[in-house]
Order: sequence, then structure tokens, then C-alpha cells
Amino acid sequence: MISPQDFENLKHQTLKHFWGYDSFRDSQEEIINSIVSGKDTLALLPTGGGKSLCYQLPALILEGTCLVVSPLLALMKDQVYQMKRIGIEAEYLSSELDDYDAEVIFNRCKEELTKLLYVSPERLTNRLFLQNLEEIQISFIAVDEAHCISEWGQDFRPSYQNIKAFRDNLDKISCLALTATATPKVLQEIQLKLNLKNPVVFQKSFRRNNLKIVFDKISDKYERILNLLKYNNSSGIIYVRTRREAEELSNFLRRNQIRNVDFFHAGIPVKEKNAKQNLWLQSPNQVLISTNAFGMGIDKDNVRFIIHFSPAPSIENYYQEIGRAGRDGENSYAFLLWNEQELKSFDQILINQIPSKAEFQNIVTYLYSTFQVAESDLPEKVFQLHIQKVQNFTKVSLAKIRNVLNFLHHQEIIFYNFQNSLSSIELKIGPEEIDLLAKKDAYFIELLLRNISGITTHKVMFSEKSFSTKIASDPHLIKERFRELQHKGYLDYIDGALSSVKFLKHRDQRDIEGKYWNLFSQIQKNKIQKWEEMKFFVENKDFCKMKLILSYFGEKNVKNCGHCSVCEQQKETVFGRDVSKEILEVLKIAPANVEEISIKLNYFAKESILENLIHLLDSDKVKMLNFRTYCYNRD
Ligand code: ADP
Repeated sequence: MISPQDFENLKHQTLKHFWGYDSFRDSQEEIINSIVSGKDTLALLPTGGGKSLCYQLPALILEGTCLVVSPLLALMKDQVYQMKRIGIEAEYLSSELDDYDAEVIFNRCKEELTKLLYVSPERLTNRLFLQNLEEIQISFIAVDEAHCISEWGQDFRPSYQNIKAFRDNLDKISCLALTATATPKVLQEIQLKLNLKNPVVFQKSFRRNNLKIVFDKISDKYERILNLLKYNNSSGIIYVRTRREAEELSNFLRRNQIRNVDFFHAGIPVKEKNAKQNLWLQSPNQVLISTNAFGMGIDKDNVRFIIHFSPAPSIENYYQEIGRAGRDGENSYAFLLWNEQELKSFDQILINQIPSKAEFQNIVTYLYSTFQVAESDLPEKVFQLHIQKVQNFTKVSLAKIRNVLNFLHHQEIIFYNFQNSLSSIELKIGPEEIDLLAKKDAYFIELLLRNISGITTHKVMFSEKSFSTKIASDPHLIKERFRELQHKGYLDYIDGALSSVKFLKHRDQRDIEGKYWNLFSQIQKNKIQKWEEMKFFVENKDFCKMKLILSYFGEKNVKNCGHCSVCEQQKETVFGRDVSKEILEVLKIAPANVEEISIKLNYFAKESILENLIHLLDSDKVKMLNFRTYCYNRD
């Protein structure tokens, strides 16, 4: 048994040796103590609060392997990469790995070499995994992004519910649940559904003192962003709602000589996405315009601003996104641009996405019948999905169809792939049959065999573009040929540029009409409720923005932040902030336009600056150099 003093030393030495840090942050040390002493622990830390260390360090100190349940493969890969980089043995299991790789990993865990093993929640029911686990000593279970277990949250992952049964089978192994997003209701759900026994709860305030929240009610957002970026030389993210908005805003800014901007969204090929992300990570002043596809697992500490081109769909999303600014503790900005018209149009967009029960059933039934899936069936195949055909048949809007497909995907009823990915091909006839085909077809299949290996035995991923370059043909023509041959039953072809569907559960019509419809409609109600709360938060002019956020997360007796746009406004009126004097101070140093003055005065409201400037011009304290620039009148 290690003495308390030795334990203290070991903790700090480990922190210094692997991470190079001298001290723990906020509640990190208490969380570590709690899990090391074998207690179930629930840790709520804001994004950037340093959650990973809370399980990584105890994993090193304790005997055995820590099992980390994580929702996204990208997150796991990133964490394992970071761990290995600092010399810690960590691995992840994913379906990408073949049996041999998995066995190597299992063996290293059995020998207690691997200290952290990352797995998806789905794996907890995998037979091979469970078998191997019998010979692995588990130190404790860390559940990352624990709010995914909450049914009414937007990141709900049903398979997180596997964790409870899994824990029941592993006697007395303690559990550390970690999350950055938790309203009191979600917290309760986490404790209950993970079966945490008398958990020690660490709830650090979510307050971020270095974030200045500025809300701008504005109609010309393009102009506002252009002005903000003109004087910018730091790194930031602009969140937009759609892929098209990301591209259009980026083009507009580039046309207006803002060079260090780029767009990012889920529809970009992986290679390009990585390049854009890496450039942004390494640059001190690159700005990414992105849909919410960007950010999870991103670790860049000198992000100086986040701009929301439009309000996020919920306060949780919003706070998570602005939390990516100022991780280094330096002052940073969170701008949100909005106007009433837009709020109304989002109301409409949201309503238009929600199908009636009959429409919901129509869409699901169409899926099953068009791919000929009978009750209780579970086909192995991946099917090409033409959303347009779903629409033609059901006469339901695309927005509603997408909403239902996304729901089915999240419930793991189907795997709905709507992102550009590689195409796949598999030959359905034996090599000996090729000669019997029409000459034209036989010739084309020969070409395929020579250029894409493996297609006679299994499904092979490939790109039409590189195949067409090899055989000097046009990709569109090639696609047409593939479809033709598929029609004739010679091959299975999935076009990666179109969406596809794979069924993951046996068809169960009663569940679809009962259980799943109820869950779907509850989730829709929840979405509307969250949007209503967000709207209140955006429109409200009376309460400090930080205070509203923290109250939403269940914090009590919250003090005003003193520097959000509402607090600034109140300062001006209540304490009589002398804006004119501050403007004069700025202009004494150098002439400037309204935007520059606003930035120097910490993004003070432009209208208020203009009002004061008019007054200063009238009283001859300031004069104009040209139609935009003001200077201090020294006469
Ligand atoms: P979260 O998962 O809570 O968003 P991370 O675990 O990614 O946060 O940590 C955020 C950043 O803080 C990382 O760059 C991490 O290295 C750093 N960090 C964590 N703990 C400490 C510490 N004790 N001292 C200094 N930096 C730390």
C-alpha cells in the first residue's frame, strides 16, 4: 500500500514527467483522487477544462488498463495519437482494425503494457471483446462525453446504455463519467443510466472570465464580418449554419482582400479537410468558416474569437462552440450576429422539418419496401439511396426526409451515409463467366479486373476518378457503365457521391410505429424547446449573457460578467461610462474609423460610438480626415 505522501509525489511527478505541467488545474486533482480511491465519480468541466488528464493520469498510476468509452472514432484516434506522442501506451479498438491487429492490442492489455484502451460503446457487447476482457485487468472505466447517454440531448447515442449492463458484469469496477454539457436534468440521467453508486460529483463553474460575449443585432452581416476581419491578425472560427453559407461567405471575404480565410464542412473530401484543419491549427491568424462539423476534439489554445454568423440551435451548442476560444486563458471574443427576421425564418425551418406520424411512417415504409426488406429481415447489403426518389414517392419535403433519415441513423436502425465517400464495387459473376458475356461488357469487366484488385472476392473501395484516368475515359461515362452492369446483375456498385443506406436492425414494424415514433416526436419537441430557450437568450437585453448561460446550466447566485454586450450597455447607462472621453483618447494616438475605434474600445456598440462622434464633431473636438476617418482636433 502506497503512503499518502508517496501518492502525492507520484501524482505530481507523473504530471511533470509525461505532460510537463507543474500543477493541476481547478478540480483535476480532486477528480483524480476520487477515482484512484475507487469511488464512482462524475466530473463536469467546461470545454477546454482539461477532462482528458482526469482519467489519463490515474490510468498511469493504477494497475491494469483503463477502459475509455468514447463516442467518435476521430476523437479516439486523436487521443491515442496524443498519448503515444508523450510516451504513454494507449490503443483504440475499431472495426477498421483486422483481427490480427486487435489480437496484438488485446495481448498488450493482458500483459498490462497498454494503460488506456479506447472503445466505442457498441463494442461493449462484442463477444470477442468480452471474451478477451476476462483476461484483462481493468483499472476503471472512463466514460467520455457522458451526456450522450441522455435521451433528450442532441448527441443521444443509444449504445451508451450498454455501459450499465457491462458494468454490472464487472464487479466493483469504478466509473468516471466526464462531460462538458450538462443541465441538471441530464446530470441526473447520467447518474441513473450509468448506475453510478453514491458518486462524488465535481461541478466546476462553467464561467469563463476571459470570454467577452458580444451580441450584434444587425442586418448586413457580410459587411460586419468584413469589418471585423479587416483589422484582425489572430486565429478564429466563424460558425455558419449551412455548407453553402460557409462557401459563399469565404468567397465574399476573399473577393474583398481577406486572404487568411477558408471554409470547412462535412462535404469536403477527407484529404482536403485535413489540409484545411492543419493549416488552421498551425497558423497564428487563419480563420475557418465552418458548419458545426468543425471543432469536436480540436485542441488549439490561441483561438482569439468565435463569430456566430447566426444563432446556434441551442444554448448547449452555442456554449460548446464559443468555449473553443481562449483556452490559453487570454482575453477572447464571442460575437453573435442576429436579426429578428432570421429568428422567424429559423422558426419556420424547424417546423418544416417535422413530419406528421403518417409522413414518418411513409418514409420508413418506403425504405423497407423499395429495398425489399420484409418483417424481421436484416439484409447484409449496402443500398444506394436516391433521396429524390423517396420524395417523388412519399411527396414529403426533403427537409422532413433528411430529418427522419438522421433520426434512424442516430438510433442505429440504419447507417445513413450522406457524405461524399469512396465508391465501392464487387463482381457478382465468376471469372469463368466473363467470356460468356457480350463483348462490350466482357471487355469492360476485364479492364476492371486489371485495374482494381480483389473485386472477385469482396467489396472494394475505389475512386471512379482515378480509375477513369487509368483507362483514359470520362468519370460520368464510367458511372453510367457501372449502373448498366449492375442492372444486368454482373456487379454491385455503390456511388460514393450519392447517399447510401445499410440496415443495422431487423425490421420491426411495431417498434417503428410505437417506440420509435414516440421517441422521434419527443426529440422534435425537445429541439423546439431548446430553440425557444436560445431565442430568449439572444433577444434578451436585460440580463448579463454569461449569467443567462450559467443559470441555464443550473448554477445559482451567478454574478454578472461585467464585460458582455449587455453589461457594457448597462455600464454606459448606469455608471455613465464616458465614451466621448475614451474616443478622444483613442484618436489622440492616431486617426481611426468607427470600426477601429469600436475594436480599440473592446467592441463597444457602434451606434453608441457614432452618437458620441457626432457630438464630438459638433463641438469641434474631433474632425474628419475623409468620409470615414476621424482625427483628434488639435487646433
Ligand atoms: P477538454 O477535454 O476538457 O475539452 P482537454 O483535456 O482537451 O480539455 O484539455 C484542454 C487543454 O488543456 C489541453 O491542451 C491540455 O493539454 C491542457 N491542460 C490540461 N490540464 C492541464 C494542466 N494541469 N496544466 C496545463 N495545461 C493543461
